[in-house]
Amino acid sequence: MPEKSIIEQTLLDLGATTPDKVASLFADVRQRFDEQVARHSNDPETWRVFLVQWTGRKSGALTQITDNWLKPASPELKKVVGAELNKLKAHVEASLEEKRKEVEAQAEQSSAARDAIDLSLPGVERALGTRHLIRQTFEELQRIFLSIGFSVVEGPEIETPYYNFEALNIPEYHPARDNMDTFYIEGARQGHLLRTHTSPMQIRTMEKQPPPVRIVVPGKVYRRDNPDATHGYMFHQIEGLAVDTDITFCDFKGTVDYFAREFLGPKTKTRLRPSYFPFTEPSAEVDATCHVCGGSGCRVCKQSGWIELFGAGMVDPAVYGFVKYDAERLSGFAFGMGVDRLAMLKYGVTELPVLFQNDVRFLRQFP
Ligand SMILES: [Zn+2]
Repeated sequence: MPEKSIIEQTLLDLGATTPDKVASLFADVRQRFDEQVARHSNDPETWRVFLVQWTGRKSGALTQITDNWLKPASPELKKVVGAELNKLKAHVEASLEEKRKEVEAQAEQSSAARDAIDLSLPGVERALGTRHLIRQTFEELQRIFLSIGFSVVEGPEIETPYYNFEALNIPEYHPARDNMDTFYIEGARQGHLLRTHTSPMQIRTMEKQPPPVRIVVPGKVYRRDNPDATHGYMFHQIEGLAVDTDITFCDFKGTVDYFAREFLGPKTKTRLRPSYFPFTEPSAEVDATCHVCGGSGCRVCKQSGWIELFGAGMVDPAVYGFVKYDAERLSGFAFGMGVDRLAMLKYGVTELPVLFQNDVRFLRQFP
């Protein structure tokens, strides 16, 4: 605190009638100021108060000296008082400026300390997502086929009727081309549609590369089905195609067996039932022994001991004609798996819609 008792009185009250006494009073004030600055901590809050006490316009010490000492001073002392006051002001301002730098440095340091990262605190835990059951199943299927020399290709979901139907030996009158089954793009000049299977990539791949071909094609496909427990308007398929000069039905059966054992367990057996697909001949439905009961019959396999896996067959030679492959020299097999169906079978999911409802209680069961 500045010395109130002195600066609240006039020089006359203080008996300061000579320049020497005036100078001595100013020296007193200056000494007190110096002591207070030296003692003052660098705390920004109390620093602001200290500034006001000395330089505040209304009642700071310098203002009081001006009002109580300078203004009422006798004409002969006024010059001395003014000179002393100017010296004091210059000294106070210079000291305060120096101190201000220290205070600011201190404030910066303490805020830096506040912002510093405390490595001992527990971190913010972010919930990690996991791969969806369908994505996991895709990866599992791809792993199985990659391990026996297949590669993965992907294709467009919007297709032309040529790739989706004609080149796959599905002529105009085939029921799969019925409007009931296919989503057509409105106003599309070439009759574009949402692919109804991943099979168009068989054609696109064979058009681009000479044999041998060993590919699997994962992806979304679309059909105009009414949604129920096992149907949706969108589902996932993985297509397979192997074409070479010496591929036999035995290779086909061997691949199917290998897949079934890898996917459902080493004791799994398969059987083929005759079927029909426009782009394979002969065609077959592939069944596997039930992975739940092992073939003795249970609720999952409806007591039959068998579960239906997917459709497949030897590539119909007519298909080779569309891609300028030599049907005399080449042979191969193809299959199309419903990924959602395989995931439901393997993981005991009974309702298709839960796969796509994003209910975390369901999703968390497949971390
Ligand atoms: Zn069973």
